[in-house]
Amino acid sequence: MKKTTFSTMALALGTVALTAGILPGEAAAQKSFIAIGTGGPTGVYFVAGNAICRMVHKEAAEGASQGRKHGIRCSAPSTGGSTYNIGQVAAGELEFGVAQSDWQYHSYKGDAPDKVKPFPKLRSVFSIYPEPYQIIVSKDAKDITSFATLKGKKFNIGNPGSGQRGTTEVLLKLFNLTTKDFAIATELTSTEQANALCDGKIDAFGYTVGVPNAGVAVATDGCDARIINLNDEPVKKLVADTPYYAFTTIPKGTYKTSAEDITTFGPMATLVTSADVSEDIVYEVVRAVFENLDDFRSLHPAFANLDPKDMTKNALSAPLHPGAVKYFKEKKLM
Ligand code: GLU
Repeated sequence: MKKTTFSTMALALGTVALTAGILPGEAAAQKSFIAIGTGGPTGVYFVAGNAICRMVHKEAAEGASQGRKHGIRCSAPSTGGSTYNIGQVAAGELEFGVAQSDWQYHSYKGDAPDKVKPFPKLRSVFSIYPEPYQIIVSKDAKDITSFATLKGKKFNIGNPGSGQRGTTEVLLKLFNLTTKDFAIATELTSTEQANALCDGKIDAFGYTVGVPNAGVAVATDGCDARIINLNDEPVKKLVADTPYYAFTTIPKGTYKTSAEDITTFGPMATLVTSADVSEDIVYEVVRAVFENLDDFRSLHPAFANLDPKDMTKNALSAPLHPGAVKYFKEKKLM
């Protein structure tokens, strides 16, 4: 008896759905959950991912009042970082990830399988802000003045899965060093490294991160650590030879110990997805951010100068996802 009632109801609901021009079951499918992989909770990726979600939800709320619904619910969990995010996007576990442009490049090309999952279906969504690779040195380690002078020191190479771990490995190769050349090579996360430096457990750490960053400030403003210049000949050659790195300046006064401008190199922070994620979802995410760019810019100083045209192309090596192309063409950004 109960069974009949349920199937009758299901039939009735199906009829309503069909009358409304949607297939039964599609009404439920319209609510989509997306997750954006970020980085450590004290990094800028975490802010970026959550800012994107905030714009997606804002569009949902404002769109609903105007009869335009996208039904997307977004979360941006803390993760191990760039190469972890790309691996999870490839596995279909995350729909999006924030990732350094160097690892976007190597994943798409498949030419660094020991560092990042080769994934030909990786797609660019947009580029965000420059992320200088920084060597942060303790107050007492005065003789560390370049990457080469890290030899024999206690150095944090970063956790596997983080972008800085991969970029540090690139530098090790460039300077003919291995992890055995350090007194200790630790694998601390971005959340642990600044305190380890202030506690004297390490002499320096490498971190690829947007400027300014609260985690870096723990070391510079908290225990007088300093950031060194990375612009000697081998680094110049690396930047000249690669499409995904550029030199950047960390302006004097950014941190307590930045008396001078600091010159270093780095990738861009980019948003990536998979060719398997639908055009509608990528379009809505891009639309939400670009339609609310002023709001987005206000959420972190690293986003303050975002330029929409640059965001469609800077340091993106994987092809743009069709959902992003659709929005950029509509707005004549490309
Ligand atoms: N660039 C770092 C990474 O790829 C993350 C930096 C951040 O969390 O802002 O892992």
